[in-house]
Amino acid sequence: MEKLRIGVIGTGAIGREHIKRLSERIVGCETVAVADVDRDAAERVASLCGAKCCESGEELILSPEVDAVLVASWDATHAKYVLAAVAEGKYVFCEKPLSPETKDCERILEAESALGKRIVQVGFMRRFDSGYRALKAAIKSGVIGNPLMIHACHRNMTHAATMTSEMSIKNAGIHEIDIMRWLLEEEYVQGQVLLPRQNGISRKENLQDPQIMLLRTESGVTIDVELNQSSGYGYDIQCEAVGEEGTVRLPDPATVVTRARGACSFEVRPGWETRFTEAYDIELQQWVDEVKADRITGPSAWDGTVACHTAVVLGECRESGEIRGISYPHCPDFYKNMF
Ligand code: NAP
Repeated sequence: MEKLRIGVIGTGAIGREHIKRLSERIVGCETVAVADVDRDAAERVASLCGAKCCESGEELILSPEVDAVLVASWDATHAKYVLAAVAEGKYVFCEKPLSPETKDCERILEAESALGKRIVQVGFMRRFDSGYRALKAAIKSGVIGNPLMIHACHRNMTHAATMTSEMSIKNAGIHEIDIMRWLLEEEYVQGQVLLPRQNGISRKENLQDPQIMLLRTESGVTIDVELNQSSGYGYDIQCEAVGEEGTVRLPDPATVVTRARGACSFEVRPGWETRFTEAYDIELQQWVDEVKADRITGPSAWDGTVACHTAVVLGECRESGEIRGISYPHCPDFYKNMF
C-alpha cells in the first residue's frame, strides 16, 4: 500500500489537530475524507486539506476510498462509529473514551473478537509520551523497590463550557485511569472519590471541581489523582510513584529554565495540544505503520473498556460518597496479556 487513506470523523479541536498532523508530520498516509455533524465546519476543513466532505460518519466509513477511520467526534458518538467500522472490517483509531458507557464497550469487544483480529485502537496517547515511558521503565527496573503509592494530578487551565462533574472523570480522568494501570500492569479493585472545597472562581452548574479519585490495585498500591479543571495557571500533568526504596517522578516537558528578575521559572504549557505533541505524533505514526502492516499493538478495545468501566464506578462513588469494589466485565481470551 502506497499511502494509507484515512477518513476523519469529527472536525473539532482534536480532529483538526490530527488532520494537520497527518498531513504535515505523519509519513505514509493522507486524509481523504472528513465528516462532522457541523457540515460547514467539515466543508471548511475538507477544502483546507483537500479531502472529500461526507454527509455523515456512516457514509465516510462505507466510502471505498477510505482504508482506515479516525474517530474524533464527541464522546457519546464514538461507539456507533467504531461498531460501523468494525462491521466493515476497517481499522479504526478512536479518540478516548472508547465510550462513556460500559455496555457500548462490551458491544465493541464482542464485534472485534468475533472478527478474530484487532482493528480498534483507543487514543490513550500518554502511553507514547517519553516521560511516561521513562517512568514505567524506572518502576519496572526495580530501582524504587515495590511501588506503594502513586500521587498524581491532572490540571486544566480552565474548564470547557461543556465540562460536568461526570465528564471530569469520564473524559479527563480517563487518561489517568488508563495510564496508572499501564504503569503498574495491574487492575483496580477499589475506588472512591473525595470532593474538596468547590473552586469558587470557576463555579459552574453541574461541575464539582476539583475532585480526587482514589484507586487501589490488586497488589494494594494506592493511587490518588487530583482532577482539577480550573487550575488558573496552565495544563499541568504530574505523577510520582513512591516505592519501598525511593521515588520516581514524571518529568515536566523539556523546556528552558530562566533565571531573571529575581525569579527562576519555566513555562507551564497551556493545553494538551502542546503538552503531548510528540506523544500524539508517535502514536499516530505507529498506528499508520502498523495498519499498513496489518497488525496493531496500541491501546486496545479492552483497555478502553476497563477505563470506561472504572470511570463509571468512580462516578457512582462520587454520587454516593461510598468506597466501592471494582470488578470488570469478562475479558475475552483474545485480549489477555496485552499490557
Ligand atoms: P470538539 O472541539 O467539541 O469537537 C468535537 C467535534 O465532533 C465537533 O465538531 C462536533 O460537532 C463533532 N461531532 C459531534 N457529534 C458528531 C457526530 N455524531 N458525528 C460527527 N461529528 C460529530 O471536541 P474535541 O476537543 O475535538 O474532542 C473530540 C474528542 O476527542 C472527544 O471525544 C475528546 O474526549 C477527544 N479528545 C482527546 C484528547 C486526547 O488527549 N487524546 C484531547 C482532546 C480531545 P459540534 O461542535 O457541532 O457538536
